[in-house]
Amino acid sequence: MASHVVGYPRIAPKRELKFALESFWDGKSSAAELQNVAKDLRVATWKQMADAGLTYIPSNTFSYYDQVLDTTAMVGAVPPRYGWTGGEIGFDTYFSMARGNAKLPAMEMTKWFDTNYHYIVPELGPEIKFKYSSHKAVDEYKEAKKIGIETVPVIIGPVSYLLLSKPAKGVPKTFDLLSLLDAILPVYKEVLGELKQAGATWIQFDEPALVMDLEAHHLDAFSKAYSFLEEVLVGIKLLVETYFADIPVETYRTIIQLKAISAIGLDLIRGTKTLSLVKTVGFPGDKYLFAGVIDGRNIWANDLAASFSILKDLETIVGKGKIVVSTSCSLLHTAVDLVNETKLDNEIKSWLAFAAQKVLEVVALAKALIGQADQPYFAANAAAISSRKTSPRVNNEAVQKAAEALKGSDHRRATPVIARLDEQQKKLNLPILPTTTIGSFPQTVELRRVRREYKSNKISEADYIQSIQQEIAKVVKMQEDLDIDVLVHGEPERNDMVEYFGEQLQGFAFTVNGWVQSYGSRCVKPPVIYGDVSRPKPMTVFWSKYAQSLTARPMKGMLTGPVTILNWSFVRDDQPRSETSMQIALAIKEEVEDLEASGIQVIQIDEAALREGLPLRKAEQAHYLEWAVHGFRITNCGVKDTTQIHTHMCYSNFNDIIHSIIDMDADVITIENSRSDEKLLRVFQEGVKYGAGIGPGVYDIHSPRIPDTEEIADRIRKILAVLETNILWVNPDCGLKTRKYNEVVPALTNMVASAKLLRTEL
Ligand code: GLN
Ligand code: ZN
Repeated sequence: MASHVVGYPRIAPKRELKFALESFWDGKSSAAELQNVAKDLRVATWKQMADAGLTYIPSNTFSYYDQVLDTTAMVGAVPPRYGWTGGEIGFDTYFSMARGNAKLPAMEMTKWFDTNYHYIVPELGPEIKFKYSSHKAVDEYKEAKKIGIETVPVIIGPVSYLLLSKPAKGVPKTFDLLSLLDAILPVYKEVLGELKQAGATWIQFDEPALVMDLEAHHLDAFSKAYSFLEEVLVGIKLLVETYFADIPVETYRTIIQLKAISAIGLDLIRGTKTLSLVKTVGFPGDKYLFAGVIDGRNIWANDLAASFSILKDLETIVGKGKIVVSTSCSLLHTAVDLVNETKLDNEIKSWLAFAAQKVLEVVALAKALIGQADQPYFAANAAAISSRKTSPRVNNEAVQKAAEALKGSDHRRATPVIARLDEQQKKLNLPILPTTTIGSFPQTVELRRVRREYKSNKISEADYIQSIQQEIAKVVKMQEDLDIDVLVHGEPERNDMVEYFGEQLQGFAFTVNGWVQSYGSRCVKPPVIYGDVSRPKPMTVFWSKYAQSLTARPMKGMLTGPVTILNWSFVRDDQPRSETSMQIALAIKEEVEDLEASGIQVIQIDEAALREGLPLRKAEQAHYLEWAVHGFRITNCGVKDTTQIHTHMCYSNFNDIIHSIIDMDADVITIENSRSDEKLLRVFQEGVKYGAGIGPGVYDIHSPRIPDTEEIADRIRKILAVLETNILWVNPDCGLKTRKYNEVVPALTNMVASAKLLRTEL
């Protein structure tokens, strides 16, 4: 029985690639040095997989930045503005597209399906001349072969590539990207031909678009593409990999008929109906099924006994020797190697498997299926699975009961928002177009040092508190000087809006090296939610109360909402996400009520990542939105009418979920807006009524650029054309923590000036 992984993390166990890239970008090391680090990492990964006994080892899953950008390079689809004149695409052109250069901004980046990985969006139009321009896939295949390791080159399939693209600037938005199929396929053919020549016997095309809601013409494109490639595939086996969800039945029926395809990879983790799909529709006798039973998106040790029985089940349909044990998707989306977790205790560690451990799991299952189970390994796994099920650290009966009791109720504040806003205004007495910020102020080197030294016990608690309080006092004074209406404390005590809460909640664990690539060299280290969540004591009250004591103006209490905490963590797989979300909601609710009791009148509960968690398939979206929004309402349904609840959201694509946003029933929402051509405003233009307060960001905080007063005023005027004056707030797009004070002060000065200017015009 064979084993396979869909892909592997490339940042390396201790983010070695990140540091090599950044050093190269900073001009501190040469291209050759970067290439050497990269080569060593690839070789180490291949050797590790070969030593583990993995049958199908992927190549070309390494990338200097992003695998979609690699594909763009492969087909030579460089936007003309980058001045590429042909030939093999080198670092200059590649990194200019990825990160911009002195003269040009980078290409757009967007989320890879529903993951936290971001890819560089190809820009295509009818004029494009595809040309084979990066031989990376072949080069890496040869590189592995040279050290005696046979690999499966992995390439993003042509249909997914086109569907992940967008029309280039100047090309109508309605341009049919799939119309480029005929033009792009010859390049794919060339690549396949060259790989075949180099000796490849298996090639993997990732076609994750196959799990989306597709229409007939999309399916036609798949059929067409793979028929076209049939001829060059004689003598090579092509694996078409799908992941992140179930394949719709019609799509499944279509692809199992395609002759060019020798094997199909299915995600049996997120694809919760995939097993029954294969059972009911069947599986063609001439193909292999790569069964993704090991979760590529989470960090839990697999329940090997359970997977074994699924595989056995599949074997009866697909046939002996036709099943390959695999991961649900690329391991890119999980942490790299548990070996480097020095701070987790052994019990929790025994529950986990990062990418390196998942390779071993895949191999162990494949062996077990041919009767060569490694008994001690399986026994240890069974013990870990059972300890995780029964551990008192996982189970908290009081929390489970409290979450259970929430069911059936809707949790809404009793008074409608319009009336609440009146009550609040009586107390807050704010001007029209009130100004505020989103929460964080610049995080200086000094601040990070203080937090780090406190964490490692190098400075005392008293010293730490004093430093943070000084910072808060500075930020409060600054906001008063700027004449901002609703203040924030600046979040100096937080390094991250999820980690800060996770560290104080029960049920969370933290890794030291559990990094996952987010984009380019940027990585995130999600907390691990392993148990029932509860809040032993207040988390923010001390700081908020202090900040409020310094000013007569309203000070916003600042919290992260349940869905955002959930979406930015590795979550439990032993209960539905909705369940975990309810538990977090209850913990945040306690915090909200403690803040209120200590005199905080405005409380912001950030749901920056609400949109991010939206399931890929339409049929599942309503359910998600319902529990996500419900969780938010739970956090604040118990406050007085006079307490003003704010929420904040990032990411510009809200239009499809606007009704859910309204259903959150916050008093005020601040929302990222300025980077998206005021796309947000369109929904209001189209007649959606928004009764609560709303602050569409008036300037972009992702760039160091300082907007001037007139520019901001113009933007506010545009917003006022769509929204009523009395509900509008004036604020930046998002938190200011990544900016510098010399950018923040003039930008906020101009923002306040423009609000004041507009007040005189109204
Ligand atoms: N309150 C957070 C901050 O200002 C919100 C950050 C976010 O939306 N990503 O940093
Ligand atoms: Zn934001």
